[in-house]
Amino acid sequence: MTKLLTCKDLELYYDHIYALKGVSLEIEEGETVALIGANGAGKSSILRAITGLTRIWSGEILYQGRRIDHCQPDDIVKMGIVMVPEGRRVFPYMSVKDNLLMGAFTRTDRSGIGKSLDMVLNRFPRLKERYSQAAGTMSGGEQQMLVIGRALMAKPRLLLLDEPSLGIAPKLVQDIARSIVAINRDERVSVLLVEQNSRMALRISQRAYALTTGRIALAGQSVEMLNDERVRHLYLGGE
Ligand code: ATP
Repeated sequence: MTKLLTCKDLELYYDHIYALKGVSLEIEEGETVALIGANGAGKSSILRAITGLTRIWSGEILYQGRRIDHCQPDDIVKMGIVMVPEGRRVFPYMSVKDNLLMGAFTRTDRSGIGKSLDMVLNRFPRLKERYSQAAGTMSGGEQQMLVIGRALMAKPRLLLLDEPSLGIAPKLVQDIARSIVAINRDERVSVLLVEQNSRMALRISQRAYALTTGRIALAGQSVEMLNDERVRHLYLGGE
């Protein structure tokens, strides 16, 4: 497999907070990789570093073999790295349709944009049903589908998902998990999935990294991590 993304020894500070203490991770082309860990472990900081929203202090980020850690966030989107941030930030007064079209703002290929829109609406029939509805009136789970759909409109090669299951009803968490699997499989989009729902993340990913206070504490195949005593104890609530 080809390396899509490589993070080497990332260090990141916020004023006096040492948030990432030498984090290295890799994503191969076509993989879904999970990043698990408690609140404040540094998961979002890794995503913000990859997308250029927060500058790393030291280390390297390579995408398709090219350094991107000095690139601007909009250029990183154009290269195919698209993040769905935590908190389902939809444009509440805009329709589902217009929210989706906003996701394509970096693109100029009109026929390609139309194809992406069809793909998103087929993938999320709920969005088709609510196409003209104001996004802010939808349920949390539906809004999560919308922000994932909006990210797909940018035609990502690598999708970074920050806590897609947070605060969502269990039934919809399953739907979202299934959608992530389908996007990875059918659209050939690689995924880096940040989750506090470690069990779900380990079930739908091939490999995983577990983060503890700014360091990778454990890494491996997700199936093996699901059965690992230390992972069960530290990240799966001791079950
Ligand atoms: P959560 O699940 O709560 O989002 P996380 O694992 O994503 O947690 P980060 O958000 O990356 O963790 O935060 C890592 C550390 O950096 C935490 O101690 C956090 O308080 C701190 N931090 C994050 N953003 C900032 C900021 N803008 N200014 C100061 N400290 C910050």
